Amino acid sequence: MLELSGDQVLEVLAEVKDPEIPTLSIVDLGMVEGIEVFEEPKALAVTLIPTFLGCPALDLIRVRVRSALAQAFGLAEGQCRVEFSLKRAWTSQRLTDKGRARLGDFGMAPPPRGASVADFVEGSATVVCPLCHSPQTDLQNLFGSAACRALYYCKSCRNPFEVMKPI
Ligand SMILES: [Zn+2]
Repeated sequence: MLELSGDQVLEVLAEVKDPEIPTLSIVDLGMVEGIEVFEEPKALAVTLIPTFLGCPALDLIRVRVRSALAQAFGLAEGQCRVEFSLKRAWTSQRLTDKGRARLGDFGMAPPPRGASVADFVEGSATVVCPLCHSPQTDLQNLFGSAACRALYYCKSCRNPFEVMKPI
């Protein structure tokens, strides 16, 4: 049987999309915390950091990761262990640059860089419109279609859009 490297595993994980934001993979989100490859007996263990606690998508992500790994490497699903680590909290800083760009492709603004949560809550953070890239935007509602998103309005192109909150 072929020997597996952590990089090969990471490549497969880069194809596993977030169920809620299908342009983003779990690698883009910075969810991958650890990869372990065991030879005898053959097994894989992946540790992920949950993006938002209570996010209902976590079970789905676990199932998708397990089946993607099993399929890619010809393993049984029982040989692919997926755990969520609660030791370290996910923060929006973990989002990769590619992830930030892909979030924009989805029509959602990434969390503003360098803005504290308090700035964001007060509406004083600069959020750039993902549609026309104007910084002339206003906070409309701190809660969008999910608790982790806020609703903004762009004064330039006059479209509402969602932004991933900084945490
Ligand atoms: Zn706009």
